[in-house]
Amino acid sequence: MIREISYKATCDMLGCKNEAKYCFFTRKRFSPKIHFCENCKKELFEELGRSIIPRSLDAPYSPKRLSKI
Ligand SMILES: [Zn+2]
Repeated sequence: MIREISYKATCDMLGCKNEAKYCFFTRKRFSPKIHFCENCKKELFEELGRSIIPRSLDAPYSPKRLSKI
């Protein structure tokens, strides 16, 4: 679950020290939240897109549906 944050936090991504703009909540109640900035969000989604979007046309995940995440 990704939410925009209104408080100040630093991006948690490796090697990044930007101000975080988003927060990723995990399902586990006591695990820490992961903060990340606009840049890292883009990179993250590009990475995810490359690994989870199947190439075939009859794939269950169309790029249109994924863009809404
Ligand atoms: Zn970042």
